[in-house]
Amino acid sequence: MPRSALVLCVLALAPAALPAQRPDSLSENVRKYVAFDTSAVALTHVLVLDGTGAAPAADQTILIRNGMIAEVGPAGRVTVPEGVKTMDLGGRTVIPGLVGLHDHLFYTAAGGRAVQMSFTGPRLYLASGVTTIRTAGSRNTYAEINLRDAINQGLAPGPRIHLTAPYITGKAGGGSMDVVTSPEEARRFVAYWASEGASWIKAYTDIGRAELGAAIKEAHKRGMKVTGHLCSVSFQEAVNLGIDNLEHGMLTASDFDPSKQPDVCPVTLVGRNNTVDPRSDVARATIQAMVKRGVSMTSTLAVYEPFVANRPTQEPRVLNAMAPEVRASYLQVRHEIDSTGTGPITIEGLKSAMAFEREFVEAGGNLAAGVDPTGMGGALAGYGDQRNYELFIEAGFAPAQAIRIMSLNGAKVLGVAKDLGSVERGKRADLVVLEGDLTADPTVIEKPSTVFKDGVAYDPAKLIASVEGRVGID
Ligand SMILES: [Zn+2]
Repeated sequence: MPRSALVLCVLALAPAALPAQRPDSLSENVRKYVAFDTSAVALTHVLVLDGTGAAPAADQTILIRNGMIAEVGPAGRVTVPEGVKTMDLGGRTVIPGLVGLHDHLFYTAAGGRAVQMSFTGPRLYLASGVTTIRTAGSRNTYAEINLRDAINQGLAPGPRIHLTAPYITGKAGGGSMDVVTSPEEARRFVAYWASEGASWIKAYTDIGRAELGAAIKEAHKRGMKVTGHLCSVSFQEAVNLGIDNLEHGMLTASDFDPSKQPDVCPVTLVGRNNTVDPRSDVARATIQAMVKRGVSMTSTLAVYEPFVANRPTQEPRVLNAMAPEVRASYLQVRHEIDSTGTGPITIEGLKSAMAFEREFVEAGGNLAAGVDPTGMGGALAGYGDQRNYELFIEAGFAPAQAIRIMSLNGAKVLGVAKDLGSVERGKRADLVVLEGDLTADPTVIEKPSTVFKDGVAYDPAKLIASVEGRVGID
């Protein structure tokens, strides 16, 4: 192949940086959720947690122009040009648009519910301040391709979507996943989904090492990346095979079981991992292997929490968003767990998972986050991403660190950190205005009053009103 053609192929595979979406390109279906329409806005007197992990900065001015962050700095150093719409945000906080790495566009819940959420998902994500998602495994990939295109074309409201292929797993798996039983099948699967525009592959709990290794090689050859919710393959084995990202953290790591057979997922994994030591030699070796090879980890604490007894998992806004039957099934399961006092995950297990994530970050690991709107259905799209922030604070992370995990670190995993993920001059104006001081009260993360995506100001209240009682239907 001539050299010029090769360069073109590589360029074609790089994540496509779309131009910033302008309000006049949006359909009426999207415009009805736009709070105001102007190409230049100044946010003044606001507390900024910029996503880089830098200390929170008070009394900042942010100038948005044509969908980009034109200036950001202390009041007095950034001058607001005359005639520009100004929002005085004294007492409020601005954070970057969140990057959700385990943000599926389907929802599974108590009572056996499993639905594609092309309607409620994108609205809840955007309303909650999540402006970029990676779908981390799909069940109806064409619904997600079409949704991504509709959002990019201004036909539907929602976040930017990084598409993940359907799941691949091994013989003991099934359901909606591709059961891959040879390296050749794995390569064929990856090649097909690369040609359909997926940028990520998601490996699941029963995949074999040979198949996972083949999938990773083929994906890298095609400019794609691979993540996994693993079990049959341990974290350290996956790192050695060249995986890019590992989902869920300590509770799904099979590295801790000395009796584990190769390529087999121990059925007792989660129960066992409730009692493992996040500072043991095995934990340290697992973390070291990931850090050394630059393998990032995705925290999904919000999906675990409802499996733990007596946790604050019945927020009215979450229950209101659910369809009535979904709400009833969810509350029934919650009641069973709380009344027996023990769930499948113990409070010790949850605390250990938190400690493992802190150890990973302290060792230099790149920790990102996502909601995973599955499990028993208590972690909803967007709301669960926000709940992750509160759980990170409970885990002992500082506010600026927690925001970094939820924004810039995710953008790094996706390879888009030059373009978004932090409140810095020259980046896309993906910004969330929160009603209050986030450093004083973690629940302020639940109160976005304006969400900017590409500088377009969306009204979260209108988006949320459009999905009430509908989660679990579509
Ligand atoms: Zn998942």
